[in-house]
Amino acid sequence: MSVRQIEAVVVGGGLAGLAAALAVSNAGLQTLHLAPAAPPDRRTSALMMPAVDYLRSAGLIGDPATIGNRLAGIRIIDATDRFLRAPETLFRASEIGLEAFGWNFPNSALTESFTSRKSSPATLTTLETTLTDLERAADGVRLTLGTGEVILAQLVIGADGKKSLVRETGGFRARENGFTQAALVCDLLLGRPLGDTSVEFHYPQGPFTLVPAGGNRANLVWIDDRRVLKEAQRAGKAHLAALFFEKSQHLFGTVELATPTHMFMLSTLTVTSAGLDRVVLVGEAAHAFPPIGAQGLNLTLRDVADLAATLSATNRSRPRWAEAVSRDYAARRSGDLGRTSAMVDALFRSLLASMLPVQAVRAGGLWALKLSPQLRRQAFGIGMGLR
Ligand SMILES: Cc1cc2nc3c(=O)[nH]c(=O)nc-3n(C[C@H](O)[C@H](O)[C@H](O)COP(=O)(O)OP(=O)(O)OC[C@H]3O[C@@H](n4cnc5c(N)ncnc54)[C@H](O)[C@@H]3O)c2cc1C
Repeated sequence: MSVRQIEAVVVGGGLAGLAAALAVSNAGLQTLHLAPAAPPDRRTSALMMPAVDYLRSAGLIGDPATIGNRLAGIRIIDATDRFLRAPETLFRASEIGLEAFGWNFPNSALTESFTSRKSSPATLTTLETTLTDLERAADGVRLTLGTGEVILAQLVIGADGKKSLVRETGGFRARENGFTQAALVCDLLLGRPLGDTSVEFHYPQGPFTLVPAGGNRANLVWIDDRRVLKEAQRAGKAHLAALFFEKSQHLFGTVELATPTHMFMLSTLTVTSAGLDRVVLVGEAAHAFPPIGAQGLNLTLRDVADLAATLSATNRSRPRWAEAVSRDYAARRSGDLGRTSAMVDALFRSLLASMLPVQAVRAGGLWALKLSPQLRRQAFGIGMGLR
């Protein structure tokens, strides 16, 4: 049986896979995108300005105002009754001369926008099937599909999420750490609007964050022990609305649930290298962490931007060009992946820490940020992923 040959295969139909498939095919590679049907993505993503600028320049979205909501302020409220509490702090984008830190988008709207762009590159074909096996050969990477077909690819891009088969079969080394916490998400209707400011209440078990979603609507991300979240979910809508009213400290008036709740288990995952012998990883296949400080999809889009830059710097008429791509991509991504993962991990652990020295460092840090404009500007730069 003859084996179909193709320059690049992108595995995974989430936001990472869609963005990567477009980037790779726009770079001129004959690309096959494996995107099996998946349940709708109910999450929302706060994307910082560099990520929004990338989406616009890559033609993945048009005017962000048509699908998202501007984020121009971040308010942090220490809702613990700890001995050393942090001050209430409001950060405004105007302090660094920006109109907004970024935009908050429903993932479903981003998916729709990315998908609508897929018909333009003539170099892109999509198959609604899974990858079932990956094996390296001398003349390429052999991929077995859910349909039984075998394909020989020069370059493989794994965008198949946290439980990535590409990562597992591709020989990547990963460190994974599970937490007892989970994230509960849903949309709320508040008595008073949040405006353009996202509000984080820091409770001892994890943050309770309200992100502006237009008018009186807010996206809730509540992190807590998964047993607490499951019990709250079981108690029903009226109980949840009363609980959220309390947790939001009555600051925004009444609270109603506008959508059902969904839970996501939390863990951290980091790979030692994001590229290995003709295979590269993007998105949660390469890095996953708790949704703290809005980093996951922001980092994913930097993966895709670096992949595009690597491809455009590679001479594909040379032999072994795909090996060079995986090596150069891994080198480009190494610093950013290490820094961002370490930052989110430290932030998450400091939010949950009950030890007095850690509380002191966190409270002291927020006081320092509150009082020092220069430190604030540096923190904004790190949080926004400015390079
Ligand atoms: C509650 C929550 C809130 C978040 N908020 C933010 C935020 O505000 N800002 C931010 O930047 N990030 C945020 N994130 C992170 C962000 O949502 C993720 O990083 C991003 O959506 C991951 O996209 P992905 O495409 O890598 O993975 P996924 O969305 O998991 O997609 C993986 C895809 O691969 C497919 N797949 C799996 N196996 C195979 C296979 N064998 N063959 C073919 N396809 C396969 C799956 O069907 C799926 O479609 C949040 C995450 C959570 C949980």
